[in-house]
Amino acid sequence: MRTFSGDYLGPLDDGQSAVIIGGGPSGAACAIALKNLAAELGRNIEVTIYEGKTFAGEIHHNQCVGVLSPRLREVMEERLGVAFPRHLVQTSIGGYVLHSDRQSIVLEEEGEPSYVVKRVQFDDYLLGKARERGVRVVQCRVTDLEFAWDRVVVYSEGDNRRADVLVGAFGLDDGAIQLFQRATSPRRSDAYVPPRCLDSIVTRIYPDPDFLTEFGDRIHAFLPAMPRIEFGAVTPKHDHLTVNIAGAQVDARLMGDFLTFAPVKRVLPPSFNPSSGDLAYFKGRFPVSLARGYYNDRYVIVGDAAGLLRPFKGKGVTYGCITGIRAAETIMKEGISKAAFRGYERKSQEVLDDMIYGRIVRWLAIASAYYGFLDPVLEIAKNDHALRRALFDAVSANKLFKEIIWDTLRPGLAARLAAASALALLGFKPRSS
Ligand SMILES: Cc1cc2nc3c(=O)[nH]c(=O)nc-3n(C[C@H](O)[C@H](O)[C@H](O)COP(=O)(O)OP(=O)(O)OC[C@H]3O[C@@H](n4cnc5c(N)ncnc54)[C@H](O)[C@@H]3O)c2cc1C
Repeated sequence: MRTFSGDYLGPLDDGQSAVIIGGGPSGAACAIALKNLAAELGRNIEVTIYEGKTFAGEIHHNQCVGVLSPRLREVMEERLGVAFPRHLVQTSIGGYVLHSDRQSIVLEEEGEPSYVVKRVQFDDYLLGKARERGVRVVQCRVTDLEFAWDRVVVYSEGDNRRADVLVGAFGLDDGAIQLFQRATSPRRSDAYVPPRCLDSIVTRIYPDPDFLTEFGDRIHAFLPAMPRIEFGAVTPKHDHLTVNIAGAQVDARLMGDFLTFAPVKRVLPPSFNPSSGDLAYFKGRFPVSLARGYYNDRYVIVGDAAGLLRPFKGKGVTYGCITGIRAAETIMKEGISKAAFRGYERKSQEVLDDMIYGRIVRWLAIASAYYGFLDPVLEIAKNDHALRRALFDAVSANKLFKEIIWDTLRPGLAARLAAASALALLGFKPRSS
């Protein structure tokens, strides 16, 4: 009998097929890259995406705030051959205002701005581009999976299908995570284990248009000294402000606390009443660690479901597309065995190396907010361009944490930060400005 590991699981060949669970950015990007590579290599392959949501007509929503990095534009245009959907851009982001409890600092964007879109519209666009390349999109949820040595069987609410390789692009969907765990558990030690996550609550506030104009094009980011909220943000969108908070177990009550927290209240419309009862809350999750068992013979997992992204604030749409493309390259050029997918893992080495730095920065951010170190750090940053730049890159997720730390830390700055933190610990507070 043939085993699961074998050299015969080579690159996807003429007449073979791939099924992708999930038509979000990572699934759609993977499908487009598979079809592009197949055309380049002269192979005829069948690619099917199962997507449970209806993006067209905005029947379903997505909790994502929809801030897309300039790097995503490059990835789409240069690596997928898909035009960035400028017609969907509602506004662009000119920078951030970072708030501690007593201080705030403006962090200006110095390069190309980030773009704000409505996520369902963006997902509909990318899925449309996949369809144009001949990808079959089945509008229903996958309900079960079976892995055998010679195929994968996919069961859904609509049909069932056999494929040569499966791509898991199901985000942090609980149902899909469970079925994947169940389907891979016979392999025990290398079964799929999803990434650890932070919860997020999102709400929208609709101020009058004059207030929105005055609010400007900056995202207000908060690191409050509230033990259960790791960070929060107020983002200007086309006709509203999106407010989101994240933490290990945030809930609606904590969102209420955040909306009445003095630094947050100062940026919201004066007439806004958080207890009026007409706010709709949405719940989402961010991955903050790497999944385990995210590839094996005949399957590979991409995007949020793999946790393969910059941990703690990570422009997940960009990383979703990048991991989707890397998985497609491996499938078409290296193979569909566990050994071949080690190449996919190696291609993501920069993110894997950054995990430890991300954990350090996350811990520093929580401790700084809690012990009041953040006030003096922001005060120093007002007169230190390199530190301001580092804060911008950290908040905007423009750079990996490793690069930010090594590009910024100089002995003089480290000494000033340490001294200011020590003073903060002893109770000396900088004057707020
Ligand atoms: C509150 C919040 C705000 C965010 N803001 C931003 C931001 O501003 N910018 C940014 O870049 N990122 C942001 N993110 C992160 C971003 O949303 C994710 O990183 C990104 O969506 C990951 O893409 P994905 O394709 O891996 O997963 P998803 O976008 O989650 O797509 C997975 C898809 O799989 C489908 N699916 C799941 N299970 C099944 C099944 N069994 N059968 C069929 N289909 C299935 C789902 O319907 C879904 O469409 C935010 C996240 C949260 C929670």
